[in-house]
Amino acid sequence: MTTSTPIILLTAGHGGADVGAVNTSYQNKTHTESDIACEMRNIVAHILTNDYGLIVKTDGIGKQNLPLKQALLMIKGSHLAIDFHTNASVNKSATGIECLTLPKNKAVAQTLSQAVASVTDWRLRGELGFKPDGAGQHSRLAYARFGGLVFEPFFISNDEDLAIWYAKKWLICRAIADGIAKIFGVNKVDGGEKTA
Ligand SMILES: [Zn+2]
Repeated sequence: MTTSTPIILLTAGHGGADVGAVNTSYQNKTHTESDIACEMRNIVAHILTNDYGLIVKTDGIGKQNLPLKQALLMIKGSHLAIDFHTNASVNKSATGIECLTLPKNKAVAQTLSQAVASVTDWRLRGELGFKPDGAGQHSRLAYARFGGLVFEPFFISNDEDLAIWYAKKWLICRAIADGIAKIFGVNKVDGGEKTA
């Protein structure tokens, strides 16, 4: 661990007029990637700040989600930058976890993916949850090239996995936050919440 408190940047994918992938079949409602990405960002940020005392920067609060262009500018000066997304496929049964980033961040990507797998049993895609930043479908290269990680914990297009997200989102986000803290060797602060 460094002597200074690590600065973590958490951003929600897409933003502005771009809501990302959409699922309209689960419970006959509209579920957007942007909304889910904001929720992931907000919950993980809460746990890292509250339980671990880390400094967390975000690209908005609540449902605010700054466009990628602005999120990119925030990466510099962060010790870790994660852009939350969901994966999507026309194949509704496509499933699994992946994190796209530069090869030098492979171990960090695998830690995040494995954290989610530990509470969901979703399979690890790519190399134990890591994929090089050139793979995949999003306009995501920029975020990785700037040093960040594009994290896709599940497929929004898979109704079963979306149901698991809604049922377990705090557990999933806690696992992600615990994984981040582990990367930096940071322990819970006194009085921090204990794992539920
Ligand atoms: Zn996306």
